[in-house]
Amino acid sequence: MPPLRPTVFLDRDGIINVDIGYPHRPEDMALTPTAAQAIARLNRSGCLAIVVTNQSGVARGLFDLAAVEDFHMAIQRELAQTGGHIDAFYVAPWHPDGIVPEFALDHPDRKPGAGMILRAMDDWPVDRTRAILFGDKPSDIKAATRAGIPAERLTSDFCDLDAAVTRWLGCLDLGAHSLS
Ligand SMILES: [Mg+2]
Repeated sequence: MPPLRPTVFLDRDGIINVDIGYPHRPEDMALTPTAAQAIARLNRSGCLAIVVTNQSGVARGLFDLAAVEDFHMAIQRELAQTGGHIDAFYVAPWHPDGIVPEFALDHPDRKPGAGMILRAMDDWPVDRTRAILFGDKPSDIKAATRAGIPAERLTSDFCDLDAAVTRWLGCLDLGAHSLS
């Protein structure tokens, strides 16, 4: 068993990238002002940075899962310029009102469901006692609560992710986990 690591779960739209309404084109991807510093800081501190994102645009037929993947590669490319990376992306393409039959259903992965967070906890060495979620919607907070971890709601108008991450790291005893 690898050692458990402190973990930050991140909502995507409005937290990592600017939410322009169903963003999905790589050329439209713009990071929020301090997301790159925040994620590089988490990486340096030995924390896992895991994205959990509802993408109902897939169920709504606005774009497909391959487009979501391309968008995530654009995020990784941009983060790499500051020496950062996301460890994993979890995507909930579902929506009960969708028009793509395969995805037109309510699914426990869709926030406020805790499905994506719980799966990530199975897949990765997440220290549940040192985990938090940052999101911009009540459904983000609810998903975290259901998964048994704290959450902080940030405003998507001017999301200062790095300030939030720095505060959270300051409250952690990183001990041997710290790489910096
Ligand atoms: Mg959001």
